[in-house]
Amino acid sequence: MARKIGSRYTAHQILGRGSAGTVWLGEGPEGPVAIKLLREDLASDQELVGRFVQERTALLGLDHPHVVSVRDLVVDGNDLALVMDLVRGTDLRTRLDRDRRMAPEAAVAIAADIADGLAAAHAAGVVHRDVKPENVLLDMQGPLGPGGSHRALLTDFGVAKLIDTPRRTKATKIIGTPDYLAPEIVEGLPPRASVDIYALATVLYELLAGFTPFGGGHPGAVLRRHVTETVVPLPGIPDELWQLLVQCLAKAPASRLRASELGVRLRELLPMLAGMPPLEVDEPDTESAEESDREERPAGPAPGGERIRRRGAVPLVPGAKPTDSNRDTHTSIAVFMAALDNLVVITALPAIQKSL
Ligand code: ADP
Repeated sequence: MARKIGSRYTAHQILGRGSAGTVWLGEGPEGPVAIKLLREDLASDQELVGRFVQERTALLGLDHPHVVSVRDLVVDGNDLALVMDLVRGTDLRTRLDRDRRMAPEAAVAIAADIADGLAAAHAAGVVHRDVKPENVLLDMQGPLGPGGSHRALLTDFGVAKLIDTPRRTKATKIIGTPDYLAPEIVEGLPPRASVDIYALATVLYELLAGFTPFGGGHPGAVLRRHVTETVVPLPGIPDELWQLLVQCLAKAPASRLRASELGVRLRELLPMLAGMPPLEVDEPDTESAEESDREERPAGPAPGGERIRRRGAVPLVPGAKPTDSNRDTHTSIAVFMAALDNLVVITALPAIQKSL
């Protein structure tokens, strides 16, 4: 079933569905492309369409081997589409769901690719703001990299910013996926390049461990951990790699490495990691996470999709039991998963901050 998108593109078949719309395999004047057709409610939002057009330059300007380039933006009747490079492969979330953990060499190679992509973006003044496995595509047609890894490309640049309009996100709300959110965002500071480094370090930790350092349970508890908890060391991880992770997960944004340096430092570690098997990491407590999720989560889909977080929720108020759902801090937090099901908009941030 072919579908015309603007005058230059034809969409042929659906490649995947995401939070902001549907991605199609398409054809353009220069060959095959991926076309992300934004959801109707987003496409019919005049303010968003205006921003979409305004952002053209930033979105179209990034051209790098580790960034999925946006080649064109199409506004045509009811259609609002991003035309992107076609990546023949899968996304990193799908790979993680299959393998759970990666050998350190492959994990670090992927993280280094993403760091390089971020370095190019940051040099162009673009902050991604939503680095997570879902936004990393793996090119499965190209040559294999260290540890048999596929080339990784970062996608969805600028999409979080486009959707994050003042009307959709008031000053008291934050937008992002809680597991990868830097502490300064939780505290209400504007997102700078260092938020991408924090998110990337979280992704690398997840590739190595099979779970994120601060995830699990109620989204408010996840936010609190970002601000107050220190990351738990992974057994068997080489010290040099651990030091890099710790530095990039620093609470203070200025203490984190820049993307270009992180890319170089990660690549320096590759020879040392060659042939090392995946780390043997104990799964955090599944049952208490399920229990507290059930007790604490508002109705609706689980924050991590179907995946059950493997960590018990930590109370927002020190000393309170995680299952105490009558506390003000819990009942006053409204978590809306509706508009963008993997972007979490959390209201009543002051209530969370007060409890920190
Ligand atoms: P999300 O909103 O969850 O980040 P996307 O809308 O970006 O998801 O993408 C949905 C799916 O479409 C991805 O999982 C991937 O399989 C596919 N996809 C996205 N972009 C591309 C691309 N440039 N080339 C090939 N497939 C893509």
